[in-house]
Amino acid sequence: MSMEKISLSENTYNTIVVGGGIAGLTSAAYLSRSGQKVLLIEKNRELGGLVNSFTRDGFHFEAGVRALEDAGIIFPMLKDLGIQLEVVKSPVSVGIENEIINIETIDDIMKYRELLLNFFPESESEIDDVLKVIRKIMKHMEVLYGIENPVFKDLKRDRKFLFSKLLPWLPKFLFTVGKINRMNMPVEDYLKTIVKNPSLRDMISQHFFKNTPAFFALSYFSLYLDYFYPKGGVGKLSEVLKNKILESGGEIKTETKITEVLADECLVLDQNNISYKYNDLIWAADLKTFYRIVKTNGFLSKIKTKIEDTKSTMLKNRGTDSVFSLFLEVDVPIETFRKIAHGHFFYTPSKIGLGETHRGELYGLLNNFEKVNKDDILRWLEKFTALNTYEISIPGLKDPELVPEGKTGMIISLLAEYDLFKEIQKAGWLDEFNSELENRIIEVISGSVYPMLKDNIIGRFSFSPLSIENRVGSSEGAIVGWAFNKTMPVVNKIQISDRSVLTPIPKIYQAGQWAYSPAGVPMSILTGKLAADKVLKKK
Ligand SMILES: Cc1cc2nc3c(=O)[nH]c(=O)nc-3n(C[C@H](O)[C@H](O)[C@H](O)COP(=O)(O)OP(=O)(O)OC[C@H]3O[C@@H](n4cnc5c(N)ncnc54)[C@H](O)[C@@H]3O)c2cc1C
Repeated sequence: MSMEKISLSENTYNTIVVGGGIAGLTSAAYLSRSGQKVLLIEKNRELGGLVNSFTRDGFHFEAGVRALEDAGIIFPMLKDLGIQLEVVKSPVSVGIENEIINIETIDDIMKYRELLLNFFPESESEIDDVLKVIRKIMKHMEVLYGIENPVFKDLKRDRKFLFSKLLPWLPKFLFTVGKINRMNMPVEDYLKTIVKNPSLRDMISQHFFKNTPAFFALSYFSLYLDYFYPKGGVGKLSEVLKNKILESGGEIKTETKITEVLADECLVLDQNNISYKYNDLIWAADLKTFYRIVKTNGFLSKIKTKIEDTKSTMLKNRGTDSVFSLFLEVDVPIETFRKIAHGHFFYTPSKIGLGETHRGELYGLLNNFEKVNKDDILRWLEKFTALNTYEISIPGLKDPELVPEGKTGMIISLLAEYDLFKEIQKAGWLDEFNSELENRIIEVISGSVYPMLKDNIIGRFSFSPLSIENRVGSSEGAIVGWAFNKTMPVVNKIQISDRSVLTPIPKIYQAGQWAYSPAGVPMSILTGKLAADKVLKKK
């Protein structure tokens, strides 16, 4: 235990971390391991944020991300912290209408070619062009994730890694980063330069967020091969980090929501007006919320202006699309599902594609919401659910121990627009809309890939974008941070990712999905570690 740790008074900490999602857990684990007096504050009863599992009626479900990608980050982080986590592979299936392929090796990209060709035989050369790009990106990904992320290595001690891995890798990395940056345009626009058929473009890209950078979207074939699943569920990752924090003497306060940050006094206040003093603060939660509640009165006007500028940029920007998730408890044994697809399944019930349904038509409705009636919305919903791509997760197919005897739990989700749910809530029929959406998803999925669903559902519930906003405090219910706009309010270049954790406010750092874009679990972990490093470096 450090001297500093002993001399701090009860409610004073070396570092306070706000937000017990995967980013905050990572920061707190590293800081407490280094001997700091650390307090992690989380508003919910449970930790993990969007990396969280739960059980209902004996069924196991994921509240957020369904499986994890290592991306050269998660395993090195666990190894560095000396944490054991038992994991299994989480293979992916992809399906269109009645054709389903299982992706297990890099060569299965040829199955993907056949799948697309089967539905779009007239577009053979375009499909081959897309595949050429995907293969090229896979090579870039091999470089990017080819070594353990150096952020999680002790370069002073591990000279072997430094000289035999890192230094030879660096020039290749920089070359690859240059190539990646040239593919930063939205995937929809990029595909238009290669593929004429809009339905084909939709089959390849409609399950990505609006304007997802082409490189990020088309790298997904590599990521499919990278997915793994902790035994016992995704939430185990958060659990092992929590245990590490407690073991290292860190404190965790749950059901504690920070409602004010008095930056000039180095204090945070919770919902009961209890104050906690910090030397350094890591904000690992929604950044719009942070800028709304931070008070900077005592600072010099030069600093205040900088903070105001950052605040106004943050508040002008929006989060990515959100997600609607339907949780089903099904009275059918898991073996029946095993015969159809893997436990992580991207399925499109119609080759027609969404076209303008999810964007143009929806914005048309939203822009005129007062004049639109329920039937217009429900007609739109019919198309939206029939033509969409679903992410289907069956935890029991990933870890057989999570299956209730003779039954199956599944999660079916699709990208959803926060504003639609918000408007419908204002109009007073949100519960009815959610239930209509649930019914339609069940109809579409049991009318296509899982016919046994319809008559065997013994329990169901759903999370809408508003539930996500409510649960983790994520602006616009966003699930991976900022929307992909031309101007990003945060760092979006991997070679300068260490700057992503800086804020214009003295002694305050940021981490997590709002600190860097594009984000997800690995980048949230990386920024969590980078923020902890910045704090420790000062000492
Ligand atoms: C359905 C779904 C699928 C996904 N799929 C993938 C995928 O395939 N790959 C991938 O990499 N990522 C995926 N993600 C995204 C990934 O889960 C998130 O980007 C990541 O978990 C974000 O972690 P975080 O710690 O930054 O934020 P969060 O998980 O949002 O954690 C923030 C925490 O802060 C707490 N908090 C907020 N405000 C306060 C406050 N005022 N006081 C105290 N506590 C507060 C919240 O309750 C929360 O626990 C998916 C997410 C979802 C929902």
